[in-house]
Amino acid sequence: MMNSTEIKEKYHNYVMSNYYPPSLVLVKGKGTRVWDIDGKVYLDFVGGIACQNVGHCHPKVTEAIQQQAAKLVHVSNLYHNEYHGLLAEKLSSLSLGGKCFFCNSGAEANEALIKLARLWGSDLGKYEVISMKNSFHGRTLASLAATGQTKYQDGFEPLPDGFLYAELNNLDSIKSLISGRTAAVLVEAVQGEGGVIPATLEFMQGLRTLCDEKNILMFCDEVQCGMGRTGKWFGFQKSGVKPDAFSLAKSLGSGYPIGAIVTGPKVADVFHPGHHASTFGASPLACSAALATLRVIEEENLVERASEAGRRFRTGLEKFVGQYENVKGVRHSGLMLGLVVDKPAKELTKILTEMNLLAIPTGDTVVRFLPPLTVKDSEIDEALEILDDALAQWHGVTKEDAE
Ligand SMILES: *Cc1c(COP(=O)(O)O)cnc(C)c1O
Repeated sequence: MMNSTEIKEKYHNYVMSNYYPPSLVLVKGKGTRVWDIDGKVYLDFVGGIACQNVGHCHPKVTEAIQQQAAKLVHVSNLYHNEYHGLLAEKLSSLSLGGKCFFCNSGAEANEALIKLARLWGSDLGKYEVISMKNSFHGRTLASLAATGQTKYQDGFEPLPDGFLYAELNNLDSIKSLISGRTAAVLVEAVQGEGGVIPATLEFMQGLRTLCDEKNILMFCDEVQCGMGRTGKWFGFQKSGVKPDAFSLAKSLGSGYPIGAIVTGPKVADVFHPGHHASTFGASPLACSAALATLRVIEEENLVERASEAGRRFRTGLEKFVGQYENVKGVRHSGLMLGLVVDKPAKELTKILTEMNLLAIPTGDTVVRFLPPLTVKDSEIDEALEILDDALAQWHGVTKEDAE
C-alpha cells in the first residue's frame, strides 16, 4: 500500500491542477466521521460538500449499492430497469407532482433545466434565463454562464448567450431584466457556494407571482440545499411556493453520482424522444442508491432532524459573535450554516482541520458547515468546543482571555 507521501507525489505528477492540492488522504468514513491514512479521525462537517445527508456509508445505502452492483449496474435508457419510474414517482410525490429526468451531476441537471426552458420557449421567442448574482450552478459552459460570479467565468469566454443576472431578494432587479425574451428565472432557495444566503420568503412568493403574470418559468437549483438539508425536503418548500421545475444532485445518491430534474405539470411533457439524454442517467445502480437514501431520510425523520440540529448548532455559533472580535455573524438554514468572519476563512478551516474538525471556506470570509443530517447533539457540541479552541488560537489569545 502507498503511504501518504507517495499518494501525494503521484497526484502532483499526474492529476491536473484544477484543484488546490488537498492536505488529507482519507480512507474510511462512518456516519459523521472520516479517517485518514494514518488513522487520525475527523469530525466531518463537510460531508463531501453536502453529499452525505445520511452520513458516510449508511448501512442501508451501502447494502443497496452492494446488492445492485452484483446484479445489474448499467444498461442505458434503451431498456427499462426496475427502479427508474419508482424513483421518479417518489421525487414527484415529495414535490411538484410532475415528471423527472435523471443525469449524473448538478451541472448536468442545470443544463437540462436550461435546455428545458429553451425548448419550452422556442415557439414563443423566449430563450433568456435570469439567474442571481453570487449564485453557483456548475462548471459546464451553460451552467457556468448561469453562475452569477465572474471569478468562475474569467478566461472561458465566449459563454453561451442569453443569461442575465439579477440580485437575490430584490424583485425589482428581476423585473428590470424581464422582457419578451425571458424564458425562466433560476434561483437557489439558499445560496451555498455564495456563502449560505437564504432567499427570503417574500422574494420567493413574489417571484412565483411575477413568473405567473409574465408566463415565465420559475426554476430552483436544489443541488446543495435539497434532500432535507434546510429542514424541508426541498428548500423552496420553506416559502410554500412551487417552482415549475428544480434540479437535484449532491446528496441524492449519498455520494453515488446521480442528478435529476423534477418538474411540475406545466413543463412535465416538454421533452420528447430525442430532445435530451444521458448515457449513464438513471442506471439501476444510481437509482438504487437514491431510493435507499430517500428511504433512510424518511425512516429516520432526518428532515425534521435537520431543523432541530441546525437550531442547536446555530445557538452555539451565535455565542462566538461578541466573544471573538473576528466573528461577525451566523447564517443558517437548517443544517446549512455559515460563520461570517473578518479574516480569510481559509486560515480558520486550516486550524480546524489540525484540531480534527472539517469545514469549508466559502466566499472569502465565511466558514461553511454541512454536517450529515444524522449528526448527533453530542457531535454538534464537540464541534462547537473545537471551534471555540480554534477561534481562540486564531485570535492569538487563550480561551480564558477571550471570556
Ligand atoms: C455543487 C453545486 C452545483 C454543481 O454540481 P456538480 O455536481 O458539481 O456539477 C450546482 N448548483 C449548486 C447549488 C451546487 O451547490
